Amino acid sequence: MEDESPNLPKVISLTNDYYQNLLGYSVQDTKLKSIKGEQWNSFCQKSNLNHNSSGIYLPRNKTAIIPKNNKLSLFHEYFGHGLYCEKSLSGRKLVDLEKRLLEEEKLEFSNSRFTLDDIQRFRKRNQTFQELDEFRKQNLGIYEGFAIWTEFLLSGQFNLREIFERKYDSLNLENKAVIDEMINFNKQYGNLATFYEFGLARKTTPERVKKLLEDIYGKEAINNSKLVLLTGSKKSFSDIDLFASSNYLQSIKNSWLDLVVFDEKDFEKKVRLFEVQVIHPIINGEFVIGDKNYLEQKRKQLEEQPITEEAIQHNLKLSKEQEELGLKYSRNSKERQIGLSYGKTYLANALALKNGKRPLTKERLSNLQCKKFIELKGGMK
Ligand SMILES: [Zn+2]
Repeated sequence: MEDESPNLPKVISLTNDYYQNLLGYSVQDTKLKSIKGEQWNSFCQKSNLNHNSSGIYLPRNKTAIIPKNNKLSLFHEYFGHGLYCEKSLSGRKLVDLEKRLLEEEKLEFSNSRFTLDDIQRFRKRNQTFQELDEFRKQNLGIYEGFAIWTEFLLSGQFNLREIFERKYDSLNLENKAVIDEMINFNKQYGNLATFYEFGLARKTTPERVKKLLEDIYGKEAINNSKLVLLTGSKKSFSDIDLFASSNYLQSIKNSWLDLVVFDEKDFEKKVRLFEVQVIHPIINGEFVIGDKNYLEQKRKQLEEQPITEEAIQHNLKLSKEQEELGLKYSRNSKERQIGLSYGKTYLANALALKNGKRPLTKERLSNLQCKKFIELKGGMK
């Protein structure tokens, strides 16, 4: 197939726009060098690279070097390794280790002439190098996997899939299976989820969360859901905390997403009984999906509904249950701590209710250790 895609600068700017829109960021301070085709072989020789190599990325100065106009290499080195080193924790650690090694080598060899052998000898006994080497080995799979998946994604955007497929045709079965697994995940959960699964930073907004959930659950499930709220810190490397009343979604917990779902009936009951678990998101959560009026109604209901004896007893009962559950675990265990902390929270809520106080203000909720409670939610079940 002929390459009819736009020229390189155009491809870069279109990809930046696409990433900005999808992720909220793009490659920022990665440098790009391209080398003319006829000079590529001698460049590879000089840099000790295999001449079949179609590009290189240097974490120590965040530079991608590619043969001129090779778009798959641009995707792999610049948007793949480049973005990974800027926007994932393990990529950043790789850069830091490489920089540290560079500084130590500069110090060692600053005043003397040295050979490659000298450097190799130095590295053998250098701690930073050992650490870097170990870290590289551990992360090689995800590091390369992300770059190859980026080639897959962007070759699709620019009608270059056939070239991508030709390139990876020659791979052995084992590596092919890994790529297929990534592609299947991508098909099932969408592009944004795939970036997050690779550990890339989250720039969490209600709009982006909606898109993410549509990809995962399908538009119909999202349109039929009563309420989805965004809570939690929204930090780049914390999980995305969501809370839903829906008969169409299922709870999910993984390294980047924590969605707690109650069906509509259960949710109503929890509001009626002033359960802390639903109060916090209703009062403080950000609206993502569903019926805004319904959210306002629930907020009002928490302010106005009578505090019943049933609600007080319900919270007392939950307090006891959590405490008993916690005590089943050994001293100093995390489970015990969580159980006891839940127990205290429910107890404090029950006592406040008994005194006619609604746990509605942010201050009072934080007195109830609510934030902690919400962050640990589900941990006991
Ligand atoms: Zn690579």
